[in-house]
Amino acid sequence: MISFSLSGRRALVTGANTGIGQAIAVALAQAGADVAVAGRSAPDETLDMIEAAGRRAVNITADLSSTGPLARVVEETVAGLGGIDILVNNAGIIRRNDLPDFTEEDWDAVVDTNLKSLFFLSQAAARHMMAQGCGKIINIASLLSFQGGIRVPSYAAAKSGVAGVTRAMANELAPAGVQVNAIAPGYIATNNTAALQADETRNRQILERIPTGRWGRPEDIAGTAVFFAAPASDYVTGQVLAVDGGWLAR
Ligand code: NAP
Repeated sequence: MISFSLSGRRALVTGANTGIGQAIAVALAQAGADVAVAGRSAPDETLDMIEAAGRRAVNITADLSSTGPLARVVEETVAGLGGIDILVNNAGIIRRNDLPDFTEEDWDAVVDTNLKSLFFLSQAAARHMMAQGCGKIINIASLLSFQGGIRVPSYAAAKSGVAGVTRAMANELAPAGVQVNAIAPGYIATNNTAALQADETRNRQILERIPTGRWGRPEDIAGTAVFFAAPASDYVTGQVLAVDGGWLAR
């Protein structure tokens, strides 16, 4: 039997108080995993949903905009759940501005949170996964891992970097039995895209290009996350899979 069960697995999901991270954390729990969530805002609703699925939930408070707390986040996951089998690097931010006005602060904030912390949290988790001979790292990339976007240069740089570092980590960790993949969500209705949804022109342009004809929902990403976390994907590594309602196919 091909297994999509996460029974007995221990997962860490970053930025799970809302949006895509919340949907993934809950789906991992529904598939059988105990789940630690790490972020800077209270994730009470997510903790309740994990427990409602009958799984253990651990809350770790951490600002992931710098590398300082990353080792502690993994230590608290291991202490709270007894180990770490799955890491979902979901936490991320976006800053928008016209190119001539784009600031160094907006560059550093996005690259540090979306790319630098993603790599070093993966490194800290990978040390445990390598020692146990198995593990799954799932990075949340973007359509801007493939495209340039408009007014978001630091986000395009960081998410293109996420695709690269996904492949780099996959190569080094494959011999240790650890798979590293990324999900590139299309246009998903969350806080991250609130400004685009509110802009009538951009909203219409976006919808016109999505073959499925609607914005994605956070739940649309969850099934792919469960697949990348499960034994069913043990021979899949280094991939960036778009879950975009067909956007990239146009
Ligand atoms: P969201 O609702 O804004 O969620 C982002 C999450 O990241 C929140 O939990 C947020 O916490 C957390 N976060 C941000 N900065 C943090 C920090 N310094 N420390 C700890 N946590 C931090 O947006 P989302 O759409 O679900 O985004 C989730 C991921 O999907 C991001 O990596 C995003 O780039 C990616 N993505 C989204 C879309 C889309 O269309 N929505 C498309 C492609 C990729 P707070 O609530 O405290 O801010």
